Amino acid sequence: RRALHIALMPGDGIGQEVIPAAASALRTLTTSLPHLSFTFTTLPIGFQTFTETGSALPDKTVETLQKECQGALFGAVSSPSHAVKGYNSPIVGLRKKLDLYANIRPVKSVGGKAKLEIPGVDLVIVRENTEDLYVKEERSFDGGGEIGRVAEAIKRISERASRRIARMAGQIAVRREEMRGNKKGMVTITHKSNVLSQTDGLFRSVAREVLTGAEFAGKGLVVEEQIVDSMVYKLFRQPQYYDVVVAPNLYGDILSDGAAALVGSLGLVPSANVGDTFVVGEPCHGSAPDIEGKGIANPIAAIRSAGCMLEFMGEIEGARRIYDAVDEHLREGTVTAVDLGGKAGTAEIVEDILKRL
Ligand code: NAD
Ligand code: MN
Repeated sequence: RRALHIALMPGDGIGQEVIPAAASALRTLTTSLPHLSFTFTTLPIGFQTFTETGSALPDKTVETLQKECQGALFGAVSSPSHAVKGYNSPIVGLRKKLDLYANIRPVKSVGGKAKLEIPGVDLVIVRENTEDLYVKEERSFDGGGEIGRVAEAIKRISERASRRIARMAGQIAVRREEMRGNKKGMVTITHKSNVLSQTDGLFRSVAREVLTGAEFAGKGLVVEEQIVDSMVYKLFRQPQYYDVVVAPNLYGDILSDGAAALVGSLGLVPSANVGDTFVVGEPCHGSAPDIEGKGIANPIAAIRSAGCMLEFMGEIEGARRIYDAVDEHLREGTVTAVDLGGKAGTAEIVEDILKRL
């Protein structure tokens, strides 16, 4: 029997509506998987928390995560569009504090009712989550004369970060290969080393070394690489081609939002922030202030994120059941009105998915 203590961090806006939905999917799962049980703790995070306590990510939240929880679900935060003194994005802080070095985003079409869905897409973007341009070491200075002001930023790539993200991508590809039967797992290494020969060159060579090395020998992995701009072209033209894509932070950020567009709504796409000892599931969308509080948000991204959390905690069967129930719902059920052109609100979607669990 595995008893998991999970933190719920709804945050702001529709996070408050979709995270309870994800928690109810986990609770329902235990009726058909009695070896699993969950207890939940709700923890404060986000802009509302910042206005109340002066911190968007209170120390107590981090402490409770580290000491008491095995995994977490995070909703969304409303980040102000202008700089607010003392405010820092709590999810960025959380990734650092818990060393969640991989951001994993599965994008899958299911032949469902989403009007804008491209058929046959089933890929995973594995994004390095700790370095590259996101080390945020920027500076600006006067370039003199006509040049005017100049700003520059450090793009940092390390062997360690490249190695561990490549391993993660390889392991995901092998697991997908097993889950799908004999269809071959493939990893595409994305970079721009024709221009950035040192930084992206390092990422590329370390990733290739790991994926073609001893750990994955005999696993049947296909390893290929692609320059990021032509990758975007092919992702738009032939998204069915891809399986697992591994990328440094910035390219991974851009590719993963682009990939989410392939399945018709941000409200469908989950993610997991993964480290060696902790996993945080997180829907890809933000706090959606335009629809908050109305009970109409699509809870699927959050429910699938609960599946991702379980998958990366090693609960493959639980994850699979959540993914399957959602896919079946998308094919057969009444989908959300606000983003998919169906008739349902949040509560009906949750009810339909729980029934299929
Ligand atoms: P958003 O993802 O919140 O919304 C974009 C559009 O998609 C909106 O029209 C919204 O209604 C729709 N949408 C999003 N999720 C949906 C769902 N589950 N069901 C139905 N429709 C959905 O992005 P935004 O509008 O650019 O940002 C709003 C706020 O969210 C900002 O404060 C931003 O900083 C924050 N944000 C947070 C995160 C995060 O916490 N990880 C990510 C992105 C944006
Ligand atoms: Mn992004």
